[in-house]
Amino acid sequence: MKSYITTPIYYVNGSPHIGHAFTSVMADILKRNREALGYELMLSTGVDEHGQKNQEAAGDLGMPVEAFLDMRCKEFRDVFDKLDVRYDYFVRTSREGHKAAVGGMEQSIFDKGLIVKKNYTGTYCKGCEEFKKESDLTEDGQCPLHPTMKVEHTEETNYFLKMEPFREQLLKHIADNPDFVQPEAFRNELKQMLSDPLEDLCISRPKSRVTLGVDLPFDTEFVTYVWFDALANYLTNIDWPDTKYATWWAECEHLIGKDILKPHGVYWPIMLMAAGLPLPKKLSVHSHWVGAGGVKMSKSIGNVVDPIEVIEKLGVDALRWYLARHMRADSDSQISVELITQSYNSELGNKIGNLLSRAAKFSKARFDGTLPVPGPLSAQDEAIRKAVVDATAGLGEWIDLADIPARMQSIITVADEMNNYFAEQAPWELIKNDDTRERCQTVIYVTLDSLRVVMEALQQVIPESASRALNMLNAPDAAQPWKPELDKLLGGGDLGEIETLFPRVQ
Ligand SMILES: [Zn+2]
Repeated sequence: MKSYITTPIYYVNGSPHIGHAFTSVMADILKRNREALGYELMLSTGVDEHGQKNQEAAGDLGMPVEAFLDMRCKEFRDVFDKLDVRYDYFVRTSREGHKAAVGGMEQSIFDKGLIVKKNYTGTYCKGCEEFKKESDLTEDGQCPLHPTMKVEHTEETNYFLKMEPFREQLLKHIADNPDFVQPEAFRNELKQMLSDPLEDLCISRPKSRVTLGVDLPFDTEFVTYVWFDALANYLTNIDWPDTKYATWWAECEHLIGKDILKPHGVYWPIMLMAAGLPLPKKLSVHSHWVGAGGVKMSKSIGNVVDPIEVIEKLGVDALRWYLARHMRADSDSQISVELITQSYNSELGNKIGNLLSRAAKFSKARFDGTLPVPGPLSAQDEAIRKAVVDATAGLGEWIDLADIPARMQSIITVADEMNNYFAEQAPWELIKNDDTRERCQTVIYVTLDSLRVVMEALQQVIPESASRALNMLNAPDAAQPWKPELDKLLGGGDLGEIETLFPRVQ
């Protein structure tokens, strides 16, 4: 069983931001989930080093292009390392093998007569690095995604891929494979994009304008359009055109933001069809993050959430938790340092960390450094144990991108129930009398063993904190494939050093 998860490759013309962090952390959560289920995983993430924007960004900093790319590439890698993203392959489109394979794909499509050279006059957005139709522009004639960049009137000779011959075939693929684009709202959006005849896609840029890219194999006066080159990473990462790519490719899922649905849902499938290659299994599309109150993040408003700042202030798991728990599947979600801090203190700190540290410290103090041996279970014990198994079962099953927040919600719900159980059972009262001492042992055992199950599940989401918690409990390694199982802690066994898992932050 294999699963190949990709993130987009990120333009290095700016520093890594919360949107990059989000997609890559979600990819990592899906990877850990599927590994826990016994799948063999390949996760690719990385950077897009070509195109006009990168070329200009290097120029703006007065740096040679290669030094600029190395610097940005390192910056992105460092952020993903700090985010605990366990990628298997870090993409750099400047890699020779990638460039050779892109050229090979273009040549094969050219040989089929699907690429034509022609003169083109039109409106061009540098932000999107693509030509725009009149109908794509705002009322005052600007790109809706880059209103401040000012579109340019351009007349150029370029190479174009014929798209229209594949439109019906792509629509049929979408109809035949309802899972191809998820969630449904974005499948409908893609069908809308395919409802009218498609114009040819410009796949080249003249070297007079852009030099940073892959030469067209059939005309070296041109470099490849940055999207054509970038999308091909999904194949070149797994050694295409070597035939061993096929087993990974058959299980490929692209995670993308809604802003890049068109390149991934229209251009990429048609490029693959033109090259005679199978389509990826799935596009999992997500919405975006906006500032508190639904305000778009911007430097001038000062509401930009910098992932590194959050990690330094609150720890990596505060950020990973917030992104996983508070993403909305159907619309943009709000984020701010304040919101992350609140969620960290109230959910991770008060509901999970405090219960663990109270119960574990009590156990160490009252039972000679050990976890007590439980006695017979009461109906309340059985009820909370069942609730914990039910709430965590979702992490012992396949998770899709859109499922993540609901699975986190059920963990928080059961954490509330565990706190209620602990308060109602009041072990600090039970310890006072010899005839309720065994009952106290049972309550402590049930609480800590339940927390162990929760922490095993959370290894997929907040791996660093979950591992520390499991060490405190001296928990044995969980069986693979993972599912929630009770009574794995050893009654009478020693507990580890108890530390505060999520120290409160103001
Ligand atoms: Zn634009």
